[in-house]
Amino acid sequence: MSSQINEAVIRDVITEVLGRLGSNGSAVNPAPATDPSAPASTSSSYAPPSCGCKSGRSGGKHGVFATANEACDAAQQGFLQLQKKGIEARRKVEEIIKTMCAERAQEWGCIELEESKIGRLDHKIEKLQIIGLVPGVDWIRPDARSGDHGITLEEYTPFGVIGAITPSTHSIPTLAGNIVNIVAAGNSVVFNAHPSAARCAAMAVREFNKAIERETGIQNLVCIIEEPTLDSFKELCAHEAVRLLCVTGGPGVVKAAMQTGKRAICAGPGNPPVLVDDTACMKRAAESIIQGASYDNNLLCIGEKEVFALEHIADDLMQAMQTAGAVRLNASQLDQLTQAAFTFKEGQGAGCPHPVVNRDLIGKDVSVLAQAAGIQVPDGTDLLFAETDENHPFVDEEQMMPFIPIVRVGSVDEGIRAALKAEHNYRHTSIIHSHNVNHMTAMARALDTTLFIKNGPCGAGLGLGGEGYLSFSIATPTGEGVTNPRTFTRVRRCVMVDNLRIY
Ligand code: NAD
Repeated sequence: MSSQINEAVIRDVITEVLGRLGSNGSAVNPAPATDPSAPASTSSSYAPPSCGCKSGRSGGKHGVFATANEACDAAQQGFLQLQKKGIEARRKVEEIIKTMCAERAQEWGCIELEESKIGRLDHKIEKLQIIGLVPGVDWIRPDARSGDHGITLEEYTPFGVIGAITPSTHSIPTLAGNIVNIVAAGNSVVFNAHPSAARCAAMAVREFNKAIERETGIQNLVCIIEEPTLDSFKELCAHEAVRLLCVTGGPGVVKAAMQTGKRAICAGPGNPPVLVDDTACMKRAAESIIQGASYDNNLLCIGEKEVFALEHIADDLMQAMQTAGAVRLNASQLDQLTQAAFTFKEGQGAGCPHPVVNRDLIGKDVSVLAQAAGIQVPDGTDLLFAETDENHPFVDEEQMMPFIPIVRVGSVDEGIRAALKAEHNYRHTSIIHSHNVNHMTAMARALDTTLFIKNGPCGAGLGLGGEGYLSFSIATPTGEGVTNPRTFTRVRRCVMVDNLRIY
């Protein structure tokens, strides 16, 4: 995942986007581009006319609704319209979503960062630019059997309305990727976004719908609740039109979704460990760890969160990380950062204080973390690291900030055991840097994670520098894996007995 966005361009885009934000911070429609050098977003072929909404509330326009019930009713109608328009309409929607995300990546990346206040602008932009890698309509192919008793077709058919919950960490990218998958499978969708990134999500839904309505005539194929709450989540899950849930978030929402009684595809939390042994290329390992752990200030659920390195190569690895630009904290700086990054409340069990991540530091820039640690770092530093023991809060907690702890382990077995403990059985993502296939196999078997990446950064697990395809919803506790259009289908069998087989 390269992130070579020119800083001057970013500054220009911020200035422009901030200029377009109303006094209450809500986005207004861009004026049509007249200047060919203006950012691509303003020259989008999907640039729609204003919705004419004066109050700032949508009143149920272009997929944005005040209540979950209204949104679900409208999405049901959207689903029926899509059914009538067929596969070509699904293809058109896929093209619209992918094209708009690419063309408006800079503008929407700025708007999302401005609202959520977590992550990095260059990566917010990049996460929208890569929506084209999400699989769409071409993934929906039937399976067929032919034999002495005729032919059988198994088709991947829609459920109807899908209820989807999106995270604060990548609001528009998750929403857009979900739409591509869900509509490719023939469904409509209603979103309950994270409240801290809900305005940008509603804006994207409004813009998507305007283009979908114009290009296909279908209304409210993609719906969203304008002001999402826990109550609107419950109402959404309880609506009879909602046949399936797709939940992307932490442990709380996964648990809540599983308690609804509806089938839920849950893209849950992770705390990905990295194991580095003495057969690894230290330069490659160091650069991969920095790239993955610093991406969007370590907001990715697949992002490297803690490293276990064999004792006798740990210094080499840390040296390689410094050479590659990461900054090492000493013990007292680590201590200061830890005090700022966690609060220690009396916990359950034996009454041990249980660390809780300080949300004020989640997704913040390295400079903010460095200040909390009492140091200054050179501009352009992507990641901080320090040596810790395996029981350190930074190892145990999914910290989601651009700092990574490095733990020395005496053997590969010890490293695998520590990695298993840190991963908390989320079965999400784990990474090894090694050229020993026995070590790879042992770790793969022990951790049993959905993604297991060897000798690359975490993004390689989603087709970014590794083979594969992209999704921002990786269904871990419920086992569907990297979601794709088939995830959102019912398999239906159609059988012709003793006929139609030609040979
Ligand atoms: P979060 O759990 O705070 O919120 C996620 C979504 O769930 C939001 O829309 C939120 O409003 C909703 N929510 C939270 N608790 C709820 C409850 N009890 N009932 C109903 N809705 C509830 O997570 P976040 O901070 O937005 O995102 C980060 C978390 O999501 C991390 O744990 C990360 O690993 C995980 N994540 C996983 C994936 C994946 O593909 N597996 C992708 C992105 C993020």
